[in-house]
Amino acid sequence: MTTKYNYFTSKEIKPRGWLRRQLELEASGLVGNLDKVWPDIRDSAWIGGPCEGWERVPYWLDGAVPLAYLLEDEDLIARVNRYVDFILKSQKEDGWICPCTDEERINYDTWAVLLISKVLVRYYECSGDERIPDAVYRIMKNYHEMLKSGKARLFEWGEFRWFEGFPALNFLAERHDDTWIRELAAYLRDNGTDYRALKDRWVRYLNKWTLETHIVNLNMMLKQEALSNDLLNKDYEGIGEELYDFLYKYNGTPAGILTGDECLGGISPIHGSELCSVVEMMDSMSQIYAYTGNAIWAERLEKVAFNALPATISDDMWSHQYVQMSNQIDCTPFPGKSPFTTNNQEAHIFGLQPHYGCCTSNMGQGWPKLALSAFLKCTDGVISAVAMPSEVSFNFEGADVKVTLDTDYPFKNSFTYRINSSCDTAMKLKVRIPSFAKNLSVNGKNIEKEDVLTFDGFMAGETVIELSFECDTVIEKAPSGMNCVRRGALLFSLPIKEEWKIVEYVRKDIERKYPYCDYEITGHSEWEFGFDSENTITDVSENGVGSIPFAVAEPPVTVKARLTPIDWGFEEGYDKLCAKYPSSTKAMGESREMTLVPYGCAKLRMTEMPLVKK
Ligand SMILES: [Zn+2]
Repeated sequence: MTTKYNYFTSKEIKPRGWLRRQLELEASGLVGNLDKVWPDIRDSAWIGGPCEGWERVPYWLDGAVPLAYLLEDEDLIARVNRYVDFILKSQKEDGWICPCTDEERINYDTWAVLLISKVLVRYYECSGDERIPDAVYRIMKNYHEMLKSGKARLFEWGEFRWFEGFPALNFLAERHDDTWIRELAAYLRDNGTDYRALKDRWVRYLNKWTLETHIVNLNMMLKQEALSNDLLNKDYEGIGEELYDFLYKYNGTPAGILTGDECLGGISPIHGSELCSVVEMMDSMSQIYAYTGNAIWAERLEKVAFNALPATISDDMWSHQYVQMSNQIDCTPFPGKSPFTTNNQEAHIFGLQPHYGCCTSNMGQGWPKLALSAFLKCTDGVISAVAMPSEVSFNFEGADVKVTLDTDYPFKNSFTYRINSSCDTAMKLKVRIPSFAKNLSVNGKNIEKEDVLTFDGFMAGETVIELSFECDTVIEKAPSGMNCVRRGALLFSLPIKEEWKIVEYVRKDIERKYPYCDYEITGHSEWEFGFDSENTITDVSENGVGSIPFAVAEPPVTVKARLTPIDWGFEEGYDKLCAKYPSSTKAMGESREMTLVPYGCAKLRMTEMPLVKK
């Protein structure tokens, strides 16, 4: 099997509409300013400073580089270029590029070698900087020699993230026929973690920290075959499918992610899921979809991207959580003992680096990489893979083609495609239709539903295709056994009235100061409800997308549902953490009609609730 779809570059794809506004928020928020306000980027060892010199700068560049180039943001481009310039100039004669002394190399976790090589390849796709192919060649050749001679090692994070070396190896294999490239590929596979052998550890909540149950490792590894199979000359076995289903069965949440803080947390609406795992899950889902063409991965990607990602980052994109919970009634530090496994009492607050700084540097990749999944290249044209307002310009067999999609999806289900071609072309436009779509219509005519609609060939000039479908608003079972409301790709929650309080302070020389401050969010409305089991959903309103697409103050779509008060109660020892399951599902009063908003809009919310019979 070879790759089914390929990615366009950030020069070819441009975000439009609400997606552009979301990326602009990211650029004007923490991701676009991290090099100014956060020591681990501003004063990183990667640019000669005294601070962290391992994963944080590469993580930041992995998001900030495509963000800068997608938006053509000259200021951010200049700032990321400064980092890449410094890193390239610091590359040693023998090819080693990470910031440590020669003596430290033997104990330096070479996860950073894999990560920086991947990031430099992405930088090349964005910038076309001709220094990159040679720099990446020398990094990986030196890495191969050092691993062979025992002067560097694949251990701990590198061992668990071995497949992250493949974007660079694939890039080199397209340019060189050297045998060492395949030898290094085989070395990484043979000495990297075999995740299938770990499955028995994912069934029961372990209540301790292990690399084998580390949620970021597990979400990253799903894509291992998509990255490595071609170079390893291996048949596709569906490891991603098998392991996602298995992990989800024992640790899934209705937003399509896994619980983990940082390690797998079992089935629970209050356990928490780390932000790094959300963006890595999205990357895995996108890569598996591109590799296999299996639509289930595009639908899973939508579910995570349109729910779990916006839910855990503030409207202005200056603050984020370490862990999000699907039932989250308060985001202030827990007094006393932390309810999390190995996270501290503030892992769920919105802030600069609640609990730990990995997510601060890694979260930026979410939206830009999603934007690059809007349209994918196929041999006979282009597929609209994750429908979002975007445009893509490319040359197809001599025709200059531009395909534009204007839509407010996932908030509304109507789509306008404009295809502009410089001459008549045989290019095909394919449109992936979600499984939940019904009553599909093209240019006002109802048509039979297909998983992929194909429009075959276009005349010179502009062709306009108007497409729409409908979807039901449904009550469905969450992995917890309780229920949740879903409409297409969007999950809905009962929002709890939020009071945001700015918290400014300095701890260990790291300053929190508005807008890069922490927040305490206190809830001020009732949350102890179940869904009335009869006539639950009463109405749906589409309101249009505001300047902040996922704002609780102006949700683009709302659902009215009948909720019944119940006695839910708190987790033992806490007064700001709802119990995992309600203490009773007996109605405590009349049901009432209440407004639900998209999960991604509500920072305080109840999402998973029981059905209550009269
Ligand atoms: Zn993290």
